[in-house]
Amino acid sequence: MDYLPIFLQLRSAQALIIGGGRIAARKVDLLLRAGARVTVVAPRLHEDLSSRAAAGELTHLAGVFVPAHLDGAAIAIAATGLRDVNEAVAQAARERHIPVNVVDDASLSTFIFPAIIDRSPVIVAVGSAGQAPVLARWLREQIEAILPASLGALARFMGERRRSVQRALGAGARRAFWERIVRGKAGAHLLAGDEPGARRAFAAELLLAQLTTSAATGGSALGEVYLIGAGPGDPDLLTLRALQLLQQADVVLYDRLVPAAVLERARREARRIFVGKNHGGEHTLQEQIHGLMIRYAREGLKVARLKGGDPFIFGRGGEEVEALARAGIPYLVVPGITAALGAAAGAGIPLTQRGRAQSVTFVTGHIPQDDSLDWRTLARVGQTVVFYMGVGKLGPLVARLRAAGAADTLPAALVERATLPEQRVLRGTLAQIAELGGRAGISPPALLIVGEVAAASAAGEPAQSAAPLPAETAADLIQPI
Ligand code: SAH
Repeated sequence: MDYLPIFLQLRSAQALIIGGGRIAARKVDLLLRAGARVTVVAPRLHEDLSSRAAAGELTHLAGVFVPAHLDGAAIAIAATGLRDVNEAVAQAARERHIPVNVVDDASLSTFIFPAIIDRSPVIVAVGSAGQAPVLARWLREQIEAILPASLGALARFMGERRRSVQRALGAGARRAFWERIVRGKAGAHLLAGDEPGARRAFAAELLLAQLTTSAATGGSALGEVYLIGAGPGDPDLLTLRALQLLQQADVVLYDRLVPAAVLERARREARRIFVGKNHGGEHTLQEQIHGLMIRYAREGLKVARLKGGDPFIFGRGGEEVEALARAGIPYLVVPGITAALGAAAGAGIPLTQRGRAQSVTFVTGHIPQDDSLDWRTLARVGQTVVFYMGVGKLGPLVARLRAAGAADTLPAALVERATLPEQRVLRGTLAQIAELGGRAGISPPALLIVGEVAAASAAGEPAQSAAPLPAETAADLIQPI
């Protein structure tokens, strides 16, 4: 590195310019913007400078340079175009240890000017050690184009709030907080010129940070639980909020439906606890999970309760939220992509479609004998029905539908391990599907999709329900016979 880039505080400092031409005027402009008290030594001034002198913005010493002019100067610039004068200025400044720049002569200078992108208080300086000023200016243009004009407003907004954030949050929590401001809603509002919106977003974010920073991250001791939908399995289907909160969690409670690839997205130091098994005692598994969430939150930890799909669809999220509310534990629910949506996308089956399905129903297939389900409604045409948890009881489930009036030829599809690399899709008619599933050894987690739309191929092309279906890749389609 030939030069050390630094930012010089010149407010109220003396700056001496030798020369009164146009180039000197440009340097004067920069120095005045930096708040320096400017003195210009020159026999005559360019009109830009003379008007500034007349306005009292700078002091003009009419005459030729003598070293005594440097007395008290913090910085000197020679812009005379006369080599001997420039040399005299450079030498006198060096003797007095005053930083000096000779315009267009790096060899006489102790500092050089960079190309500047000014979004004060954010300033970007680009230098080429005097070797390729055109390249530096080209780079400046590129950077100018990508930096939003309101970047300075964002920096000022943050600067004005530094103190109050220091008081409100522990040291460990502050960095993550500011990152959320820059990348989150507050930053977006400010860059869009909406300062009131930014203020509101900031206040909400600060409140959330105060509520959620844990002892483990150096914040307050108030713990919190995040009920996070992990999606159907593919980790890329986590929401951004799920990822952000997983990155903050101290403890992760997860069950069988959450694959390792999703767990890997949690903070490395987070404690991971499998809660898919009953660990004995008279408490049910669900009560044990409630107990764990509450206990860790009371210890001041941030607890991620990671649930397959969406927490509020066949996920017992409702019971968990009630338990947390009863215990006075703050919680956040983060929705996830439910298995039906993952399976629909994975198998190319639109759940609703004009002329084929005007509604879609998510049903538990756990209890095909349960009379609380209205089977006649589920068997009607013009809709899609998706059964969760029904693989073990496919036979009785299909029998109930057929008994309630569903046609034998109604298309049906089984989607096993949707969105995961091992995903399998099996298509047939309602009359065939249970036997096909059994023969292929379809096992949980899998969904049964019933309705006209289930005949659509992965490419989105509808196929005749009773006719042989177009072949997909051997791995993801087992053809009905
Ligand atoms: N809360 C979850 C559902 C939990 S119930 C959600 O919103 O998806 C468990 C049932 O979900 C399983 O029996 C299965 O029917 C379904 N399921 C979950 N993940 C699945 C997947 N990747 N592929 C197919 N079915 C899935």
